[in-house]
Amino acid sequence: MTLFTPEEALAYHRNGKRGKLEVFPVKPCATQKDLSMAYSPGVAEACRAIAADPDTVFDYTGRGNLVAVVSNGSAVLGLGNIGPLAGKPVMEGKGVLFKIFADIDVYDINLNCTSPQAIIETVKAMEPTFGGINLEDIKAPECFEIEKTLKQELDIPVFHDDQHGTAIISGAGLLNTLELTGKRIENLRVVISGAGAAGIACAQFYVTLGVDPANILMFDSRGLIHPQRTSGMNPYKEQFANGTPDMDLTAAMQGADLFLGLSQKDLLSQDMVAAMADKPVIFAMANPDPEIPYPSAKAVRPDCIMGTGRSDFPNQVNNVSGFPSIFRGALDVRATSINEEMKVAAARALAELAKEPVPEAMLEAYGVDKLEFGPDYIIPKPLDPRVLLWEAPAVARAAMDSGVARQPVDLEPYTQNLQR
Ligand code: NAP
Ligand code: MG
Repeated sequence: MTLFTPEEALAYHRNGKRGKLEVFPVKPCATQKDLSMAYSPGVAEACRAIAADPDTVFDYTGRGNLVAVVSNGSAVLGLGNIGPLAGKPVMEGKGVLFKIFADIDVYDINLNCTSPQAIIETVKAMEPTFGGINLEDIKAPECFEIEKTLKQELDIPVFHDDQHGTAIISGAGLLNTLELTGKRIENLRVVISGAGAAGIACAQFYVTLGVDPANILMFDSRGLIHPQRTSGMNPYKEQFANGTPDMDLTAAMQGADLFLGLSQKDLLSQDMVAAMADKPVIFAMANPDPEIPYPSAKAVRPDCIMGTGRSDFPNQVNNVSGFPSIFRGALDVRATSINEEMKVAAARALAELAKEPVPEAMLEAYGVDKLEFGPDYIIPKPLDPRVLLWEAPAVARAAMDSGVARQPVDLEPYTQNLQR
């Protein structure tokens, strides 16, 4: 179902002020006195204070609530390598989501750089401006090296949403499927289709949650990633090399407990789904069309629990349930990074929220009579306003517990404040 025509979408971007974001002063600027404090000479007081104590930059500037959405446009949505200029509407859109879901301000930074080194150097040079860096739509495998190096070298959170957002939200769903199926995570037999940004990050995160890496079979466009393979490999795929050269997807799916699709539409057949273990879990998340359509999977395996990237079927995995609240929690304690503990806390908070009764207003917003924890509701709905209240404090707490919070908060008043 398309909600708009192409011309409507263009007019949306073009009409009124161009684009989707603007910069807005937050201090009074009506009088001569106001202006002489906003800029010279009064601003020098703030400059001197920061020069004397760099941490006061968070008191005297907007740095602590400002995130850079950084992209070179090399892997934009389903559009591919369209470059930094054509990617800009997407990055502005990401800024809109940061703002409306978590009141975080964004500058979108669209870089005319292709080499990881150039992106790394540029982002490093921008560190003083920002409280956090959200890497966006940068192609694999370069995205892994860029993120790893920046995490090591910057003192502020660096988070590649295409990797970790997907991992955290689907990871929340995975935790709840364990409860519904009675299976143990360390015993799950997992098949992953897709070894790009999202596939690799999900595999790594699921291992953090307890999946045995020896139980993962991962496929890319050339087939199974196995220990003897040499073509089309990289160190990130290498970590998940299992099985034998003759193994295809059909063989791998025999008795699998979990299928994770982050690749292309229609790769999974009904026969493959039929061959899965009892109460199988299928996260088929290729966008806009999943590895197998929801109705086709359910037709052969009514006992399956299925999630997709789509809003017109149950269990939509949508990154908007992640990055706004994760950055909110990280920024509010001035975290120096978003570490594994914070990611796990975010996933657990989402998993727990799905077990709470759903408020009437939410049911109305989604036009349904009932939403109740079970196979058709394993993760909160993306537009659920409670996500911020559950996830941001959980992330803030994990940052404090794991020692990366520069400014601890008292969680109870903090959570109440978020509600306003
Ligand atoms: P990516 O970095 O381009 O990775 C795509 C991966 O799919 C690559 O490893 C590629 O293989 C593999 N692939 C391509 N054709 C295949 C085939 N026929 N069989 C098996 N594997 C195949 O992209 P990404 O960012 O990870 O995203 C992948 C997909 O997941 C996209 O459709 C994206 O929209 C979707 N996604 C959905 C969500 C969500 O629903 N929340 C979140 C993130 C991503 P090679 O390595 O050999 O090129
Ligand atoms: Mg993206």
